[in-house]
Amino acid sequence: MFGVWAPDEDVATLAYFGLYALQHRGQESAGIAVSDGSRIVVFKDMGLVPQVFNAPVLSTLRGHIAVGHCRYSTSGSSVWHNAQPTFRTTPSASLALGHNGNLINTLELAALVRASAGDGGQATGGLPEATSDTDVLTALFTLPADDAGEGGIEAGALAALPLARGAYSLVFMDERTLYAARDPQGFRPLVLGRLERGWVVASETAALDIVGASFVREVEPGELITIDERGLRSRTFASPQPRGCLFEYVYLARPDTSIAGRSVQATRVEVGRRLAVEHPVDADLVIPVPESGTPAAIGYAQASGIPYGQGLVKNSYVGRTFIEPSQTIRQRGIRLKLNPLRDVIAGQRVVVVDDSIVRGNTQRAIVAMLREAGAAEVHVRISSPPVAWPCFYGIDFATRAELIAGGLSAEEIRVSIGADTLGYVSLEGLTAATTLPAGRLCRACFDGDYPLGVASEEQGKHLLERAVVSAARAG
Ligand code: SF4
Repeated sequence: MFGVWAPDEDVATLAYFGLYALQHRGQESAGIAVSDGSRIVVFKDMGLVPQVFNAPVLSTLRGHIAVGHCRYSTSGSSVWHNAQPTFRTTPSASLALGHNGNLINTLELAALVRASAGDGGQATGGLPEATSDTDVLTALFTLPADDAGEGGIEAGALAALPLARGAYSLVFMDERTLYAARDPQGFRPLVLGRLERGWVVASETAALDIVGASFVREVEPGELITIDERGLRSRTFASPQPRGCLFEYVYLARPDTSIAGRSVQATRVEVGRRLAVEHPVDADLVIPVPESGTPAAIGYAQASGIPYGQGLVKNSYVGRTFIEPSQTIRQRGIRLKLNPLRDVIAGQRVVVVDDSIVRGNTQRAIVAMLREAGAAEVHVRISSPPVAWPCFYGIDFATRAELIAGGLSAEEIRVSIGADTLGYVSLEGLTAATTLPAGRLCRACFDGDYPLGVASEEQGKHLLERAVVSAARAG
């Protein structure tokens, strides 16, 4: 997510570059909303940021406030209707909203919106269409904030935010104001930056660097920030109980981003060093699975004294493809993305470092590929503990049954992926590398200790679609 308030800037282009910097956080759809003070225009479509936007489109988005979003879906299908920013209107204002995270009381909030609207949702711009938690939240923000049926977007947000549970870093706007808010746990990152004359909010500090904004601070858990021509104001809508996502350090965030004042790259290198101490092995070469395994492989090589090299070449241009690969290519699967350097690998005892194992299919393919390229031994090292529990706060891993560590021990996983040895960094080692105390982190996908409990009926990606189908059947 990216938001900007800047009277002297081409805010649509800034949002475009901000989203470009944040493309790794979502590749399904992209959108930018712009306001000139009296009217909001939203442009969004399915695809990557440069597929959705070009210079002629950006030139039509004129104003001094912008909100941008690139989507990775965890609630609701990957369809145009669920692309963000979402857009809804009230009699007095319009709202465009971008959301990173995943709510865990979506059905409860949807029921609240229907009850408040009292007409099946028509007064809120048609909630029955909503199939994402974000759309429900947007509808909630546009409910009248008081009994007299009045109150703008700010009042609506302040009334609604304490009702939402789960992960929500939000950037939103009405015609005249830019807002940023973060859930009390601060599961997902959100930072504030300063332009010479203006403000920026973004999911990661790397996006601030790219648009030339200086880092000011993180948006605090439980905080709502308001930015308009009168300046920046901050309010606390809930007491903070910080539990930032540990997986941001492992995989999600860019290496050139900082979280809680600590560089993600430095954390990943340190994890690699700890991995070398916890799981040493006699070997000739340390190679990363690029790019996410690279910093930890550097750390592993530094601490072990084993030479570091590039043994796998990544095709960085493989993202979402609309062309279904043929059966022959699908069977080669991973080769679309990674190809081994045979003359580097052949005859070597190789340590291959990756960031995580989710289902195990990628690592199995990599081990087979390295053996095919002539590796004498393949030792797999993973810079996170086994992912054994699903995430309800914004990462669509899989169900526990689909997670390989949900059912198998480390030794069984080693056999399953065909490695000579397998070592995961310990949860203590990973946590220590962040320099944050364990009590300030969410580590639930590793240890099953969820900061917020999730009712079984609120679990699953297609809650609202299922609810609409069962209501239609019942009706
Ligand atoms: S469960 Fe894992 S991925 Fe989800 S928020 Fe917690 S640490 Fe992050």
